[in-house]
Amino acid sequence: MNFLEERIIKDGVVKSSNVLKVDSFLNHQMDIALIEEIAKEFKRRFADKTVTKVMTIEASGIGIAAFVAKEFGVPLVFAKKSKSINIDGDVFVAEVESFTHRNKNQVIVSKKFLHEGEHILIIDDFMANGCAMQGLISIVESAGATVEGCGIVIEKGFQIGGRVIRNLGYHVESLAIVDAMDAETGSVTFREQ
Ligand code: 5GP
Repeated sequence: MNFLEERIIKDGVVKSSNVLKVDSFLNHQMDIALIEEIAKEFKRRFADKTVTKVMTIEASGIGIAAFVAKEFGVPLVFAKKSKSINIDGDVFVAEVESFTHRNKNQVIVSKKFLHEGEHILIIDDFMANGCAMQGLISIVESAGATVEGCGIVIEKGFQIGGRVIRNLGYHVESLAIVDAMDAETGSVTFREQ
């Protein structure tokens, strides 16, 4: 078991058959020493990539991605959720269905902060069905930039996102892949990597 899997076993809570709560150390209260270790591990896994910018989606990806951006010595840009239907031409837009809130959001990135020819590493806390990741990928590609990789802290391997994004040909690195979890017993099973 790696450091993150150990922490999930210790402090993660299986909320239901498909929701894992890690809010005591990852996405509400944050254990900064752990986040630093996560960022170093992403740097190691994407060491051979050219990365000019890290990208994530608000809100819970931001804190993690900030440390990853520091490791690479590049800026972080995060996609913002926008309620406005009158989005002007100064932004790249994608529609993303929220796994946790079950609603659709338009997410936007200003054209000032994403340019043709950039090399983007996308980071997020979780991958479930892959909607957030697909939205971010489509924003990067509509800018004419390149997706260098997708770094996920916790992938739920029993949901389709990881398979879909890998099948599209993207380099996905997940620090923990949960293959099964049981809300009654609280057990979590990880994929051997
Ligand atoms: P997807 O778009 O891949 O279906 O879902 C990814 C997004 O939903 C992530 O940005 C994350 O915030 C949220 N999410 C998905 N599954 C979980 C989960 O089991 N626990 C938590 N805390 N967030 C999740």
